[in-house]
Amino acid sequence: MNDCIFCKIIKGEIPSFKIFEDEHAFAFLDINPIERGHTLVIPKFHAKELFFLPPEELAGVMPAIQRTATLLKKKLGCDGMALSQLNGEAAGQTVFHVHFHLIPRYAGTPIDWTPKTPAPTMEELAALHRQILG
Ligand code: AMP
Ligand code: ZN
Repeated sequence: MNDCIFCKIIKGEIPSFKIFEDEHAFAFLDINPIERGHTLVIPKFHAKELFFLPPEELAGVMPAIQRTATLLKKKLGCDGMALSQLNGEAAGQTVFHVHFHLIPRYAGTPIDWTPKTPAPTMEELAALHRQILG
């Protein structure tokens, strides 16, 4: 738990581009996005997979997902929003603290699950962060 990078992000021990925070949840830009604006929403409660997240904590994070998705849609002008959540290595999970991916979608563009290369620079992420929060 102590070496969990997402717990460290919640505590501010690892920097992140925070999009939203409330009592139950924390949302921040993904540093290896598959789409500009790709954002992660995480419960503050540490559980490695959905199977281990208490239902009341899941219920607590859902409003933050909706609110963050609404903000991203408004500020980025995307046509849709994909919500993805992976559990276990077999599903492609790489960080073992439950997280929900919000991925802006555009009409006529099929989703490509490969992270964009090159990854955005810190300056690009900072500009995106300003656009979303501005
Ligand atoms: P998953 O494959 O569902 O476990 O996704 C983990 C996600 O966390 C990936 O999209 C990574 O790009 C993202 N990620 C890993 N470390 C960080 C970090 N320090 N800040 C922001 N996003 C991160
Ligand atoms: Zn954690």
